[in-house]
Amino acid sequence: MKNLITHIGGLPIEQLARDFGTPTFIYERDVIEKRIAELKAFDVVRFAQKACSNLAILALMKKHGVVVDAVSAGEIHRALKVGFTGQASSDPGSTGGARHAPGIVFTADLFDEDARDMIRTHKLPVNVGSPDMITQLGTFAPGTDVTLRINPGFGHGHSRKTNTGGSYSKHGIWHTEIEECLRLGKEAGVNIIGLHMHIGSGSDFQHLSTVCDAMVKAAKRMGPQLKVISAGGGLPIPYHKEQSRIDVGAYFSLWDKARKMIERDLGHSISLEVEPGRYLVAESCSLLTQIRSVKSSGGNRFYLVDAGFETLVRPSMYGAYHEISIATHDGRAVGNAFDTIVGGPLCESGDVFTQEEGGVVTTRKLPEAVVGDFLILHDAGAYGSAMSSNYNTRRLAAEVLIQQGRGDIIRERQTFEHILHFERIPSNLA
Ligand SMILES: *Cc1c(COP(=O)(O)O)cnc(C)c1O
Repeated sequence: MKNLITHIGGLPIEQLARDFGTPTFIYERDVIEKRIAELKAFDVVRFAQKACSNLAILALMKKHGVVVDAVSAGEIHRALKVGFTGQASSDPGSTGGARHAPGIVFTADLFDEDARDMIRTHKLPVNVGSPDMITQLGTFAPGTDVTLRINPGFGHGHSRKTNTGGSYSKHGIWHTEIEECLRLGKEAGVNIIGLHMHIGSGSDFQHLSTVCDAMVKAAKRMGPQLKVISAGGGLPIPYHKEQSRIDVGAYFSLWDKARKMIERDLGHSISLEVEPGRYLVAESCSLLTQIRSVKSSGGNRFYLVDAGFETLVRPSMYGAYHEISIATHDGRAVGNAFDTIVGGPLCESGDVFTQEEGGVVTTRKLPEAVVGDFLILHDAGAYGSAMSSNYNTRRLAAEVLIQQGRGDIIRERQTFEHILHFERIPSNLA
């Protein structure tokens, strides 16, 4: 029956639940490796770790020559922990493309104090999203290599919260300010060497070629000091089973063509980076939950599971779609499928996994299940664990990596004491 499964990554679901409990994020190493391999035509693959920043996942990226992007001091800390540095490293074992690329690049639209300290101490290159950052860098880290994150004057996508370009986007440097940034860079004594655009055209190649044109134009403004261009992230994955996969070859070709035009204009070679988050990890992970209540209310059928938007927020936050499967806990034969609403444990009406943008609750045709069966939310690897919280004082879920036919724990389930660790009761209240 459709949406009825028994295994994740070759391991029986019942056994995974017994060994690791629920809810648990279960990653499959070989799926991540396959995605990395698909992008090897790019000179550099830079993982936007905000999508999934578990140390084990970062270590796996490193093993394959993928470098990382950090958007906060905390993410820099993670990257340093697994051995990335701000300098270029050429690991001979790499299958990815970290050729002469720094292991860590800090990307943001501002510096907070923590990030400033990290950048100065570890000599990290910076992808700046505001002209102010160039001048500030000159005061605390002169000599830094800098790329300019450019807002080409337009964005993409219908979800306003996720739009990354245009005049209402907080991200990047307006495209007409490049010359001014070069002047500021000279004044501040930093080396502006690259251009970056993260627009997220998805698989809209018409739009993507507009972005590529904007990059070629920006490169002309920048002139001979340009050495590297970054295509940013935004490569989509097929969240719906019937969606097709992006043509990565065609995506590369468009950017490669832009790169070659820039090389012709400038008369020297240009390194081409890509910076995916979602694409590398989304499909590698299933969120394993257990059904704790099956009920009907006013004709609607509900499965309530032991994880809510504190664990996977995308459906509540963006109306995002995740495929859902059921696994029985006892291997019994399953009869009919029913239109079902899937919700979590939170005291919050928006805690529903089957909803569309704007919070419209929908149903999903799911196999008949009983309390104790398992419910799997697929493609939970990107912005899943990374966006989870302790709302309702619920513990962060465990994370497991399946490799070589077994599951290794890569994050222990949080404890209640750990949640309370930094809270203090003033003595007059104790
Ligand atoms: C979030 C982000 C990415 C990754 O986006 P995906 O859609 O996950 O590929 C890449 N670059 C920057 C600067 C980002 O902020």
